[in-house]
Amino acid sequence: TEAPASAHALPADAVAAAPARDLFSKFDPLIAERQALLDSGVRDPFAIVMEAVKSPTEAVIKGKETILLGTYNYMGMTFDADVIAAGKAALDQFGSGTNGSRMLNGTFRDHVDAEDALKQFYGADHAMVFSTGYQANLGIISTIAAKGEYIILDADSHASIYDGCALGNAEIVRFRHNSVDDLDKRLGRLPDGVGKLVVLEGVYSMLGDIAPLREMVEVAKKHGAMVLVDEAHSMGFFGEHGRGVYEDVGLELGRDVDFVIGTFSKSVGTVGGFCVSNHPKFEVMRLACRPYIFTASLPPSVVATAATSIRKLMTAHDKRTRLWDNSRTLHRGLTDMGFELGTDSPQSAIIAVILKDQQQAVVMWQALLEAGLYVNMARPPATPSGVFLLRCSLCAEHSPEQIAAILTMFAAAGRAAGVLA
Ligand code: PMP
Repeated sequence: TEAPASAHALPADAVAAAPARDLFSKFDPLIAERQALLDSGVRDPFAIVMEAVKSPTEAVIKGKETILLGTYNYMGMTFDADVIAAGKAALDQFGSGTNGSRMLNGTFRDHVDAEDALKQFYGADHAMVFSTGYQANLGIISTIAAKGEYIILDADSHASIYDGCALGNAEIVRFRHNSVDDLDKRLGRLPDGVGKLVVLEGVYSMLGDIAPLREMVEVAKKHGAMVLVDEAHSMGFFGEHGRGVYEDVGLELGRDVDFVIGTFSKSVGTVGGFCVSNHPKFEVMRLACRPYIFTASLPPSVVATAATSIRKLMTAHDKRTRLWDNSRTLHRGLTDMGFELGTDSPQSAIIAVILKDQQQAVVMWQALLEAGLYVNMARPPATPSGVFLLRCSLCAEHSPEQIAAILTMFAAAGRAAGVLA
């Protein structure tokens, strides 16, 4: 058996070496698809290893200094000196882990402090920290809507939202991505007087487009539905206090939006998830929500870094300005070169470059990596309407020189891959 070429590669003879038929057989098409990709001579886009990380925007990949344009480190908080100091202090005082559930032994001082920081950040009555954003969606969505009730969600919703629906017992209704009319129509067909939850996202992470939240919330309220907005990709830089797209368009928690879901893995710069709400009965979720109860809580060092980062994000106005400048400069530069982008204007910190097919996407992705730039390659089923794209996510800490270098690399890779003339 040949040694795998990269950290998580399957051995080349995996299919031949395995029994003719067993539970793994259904994955043969997936194994064959990946092998065909690797046989075309490209590096595996889903097996990248960061050998060293030098800053929020630079890492070493395969021995090469690389600019990071494919992380969710929007506000560049991962190397903030205060954030790191808070994590080290908590590690010294409280040890490396909690060894248990939030409900039993796993709530330490800094879990409560992170929830207090979230309440301040959102001006919210209640905040509940989960071990990831994935689990926050899984937990709240599966618990809040039960058998005989309805969840109405955007067709392009994140996997964690779909999985929350799958874990619960509510009826699921999908509406066309960002279509206010379709949402209205589908809500109109549901019975009166039964519980309904409309699930939306502020920023949709594949194309970087934002939702028409004002209109959608108006329609949801007209039909008597509660509203949950996942603001994972907007925290820190949308709205006056950085609360998200809902704040940016003038909506309020409690009055218009019932639940905001978020994550610590993007702007906050660590790991964890949360839900904030003003509902007077919200705390009952801690007694009913299985993905909160039946898993270990976050290590104290993680929640301590989160609390410090969240409080700093409340006043990170310079970073916010720089992030939006970077988004506009990159969007304009790529548009001027002739790339097709996910949005006509820069709507968020995500800029998606749309490519013809997998081959073109992979060739271009590899050319960028070899030039010293890491972006995300995204493909169906993660992407909507079967598109292949290179997703760029900007950081407040990308310097103007880095943005210029990024544009130069895109021009060269675009020509090499035959995307640009
Ligand atoms: N919601 C959305 C919209 C996301 O994009 C993601 C992660 N990419 C999550 C939730 C899950 O967050 P986490 O990484 O904290 O699990």
